[in-house]
Amino acid sequence: MRALVSSPEAAVLAREMGLEALGLAWTDEEARRLAGHVGRVYLVRSGSMADALVRLYRDEGFAVAVLPGTREARDAAAYAAQLLGAAFIPDAVNVAMAGDKFRVERLVLGNKAVAVYEAQPPLLLTLGPGSRSVGEGSAGGEVREISVGEDKRVRPLSVEEKPKGAVRLEDAEIIVSVGRGFKRKEDLQLAFHLAEVLGAQVGCSRPIAADLKWLPEEHWVGLSGKKVSPRLYLAVGISGQAQHIAGILNSKYIAAINSDPNAPIFQYVDFGIVDDLYKVLPLLAQRLSERRRGA
Ligand SMILES: Cc1cc2nc3c(=O)[nH]c(=O)nc-3n(C[C@H](O)[C@H](O)[C@H](O)COP(=O)(O)OP(=O)(O)OC[C@H]3O[C@@H](n4cnc5c(N)ncnc54)[C@H](O)[C@@H]3O)c2cc1C
Repeated sequence: MRALVSSPEAAVLAREMGLEALGLAWTDEEARRLAGHVGRVYLVRSGSMADALVRLYRDEGFAVAVLPGTREARDAAAYAAQLLGAAFIPDAVNVAMAGDKFRVERLVLGNKAVAVYEAQPPLLLTLGPGSRSVGEGSAGGEVREISVGEDKRVRPLSVEEKPKGAVRLEDAEIIVSVGRGFKRKEDLQLAFHLAEVLGAQVGCSRPIAADLKWLPEEHWVGLSGKKVSPRLYLAVGISGQAQHIAGILNSKYIAAINSDPNAPIFQYVDFGIVDDLYKVLPLLAQRLSERRRGA
């Protein structure tokens, strides 16, 4: 049986399941990385992701397609699954073969529970949080360019870069995130100041953006906000409810400042400070900027 994979992580997963892996890429760099892990990569030069999945299923056949956990991949996989009459499972955190079927685990109920599914091929799935990272491979696979039909019903009219300084939490290396522990909107300056010292972006919990409207929605992190994967995520005055945690599990390190030692956030942190944020933030910003200046 074959797997269609769009990342080196997915290629390793396919190998572990004893499947032959074919690669699917959209950029030269993706194709180059994938070719290190599979025998053949299809590099899509034009056309939609859904059309590419359908075409490759019909031309090559695959038992499972393992796609990244992006919104675009989820939409495309769901659409392609409809066209192919295939099964679709989003946000998979574990996949294994069980005879001639697949056994898939995904996090549900805001990551509080694991649901286990059995699915027959063909199956399309997207990967959820916590996927492993895989280095360069040496398979030396062949790269074949393909073009699939454009979707004439939808066409981009223009693509404009976001203005400089706009919030790009998805790309941030460090995020200082604020929650309801802040008493007034003006107090968020404490977090913005620390973020400036650290070269970080500022994120927030849902109440800050959705209820209090102290920050625009582009700062909102979590299940219904942005999923982020920084090197360091510092949650300040955030309790750590499951819906917030769902957005930060791909962070390399999680740290928190919270005055309540029993706050759920402390179950997820690598480092934690139990204290008043109004005391800790100015001190931290001062110490770190002194360090930067070599004082
Ligand atoms: C369908 C659904 C989707 C949701 N999606 C999201 C989402 O995407 N993102 C999200 O964030 N939430 C989401 N929520 C809301 C979520 O359940 C929580 O209500 C929310 O995350 C809580 O935000 P918070 O931690 O800022 O506030 P709180 O839960 O009120 O926590 C405030 C924390 O600040 C601490 N604190 C108070 N004063 C201080 C101080 N002086 N110094 C230090 N610490 C202090 C407190 O101990 C407390 O732990 C969703 C909810 C639902 C139902």
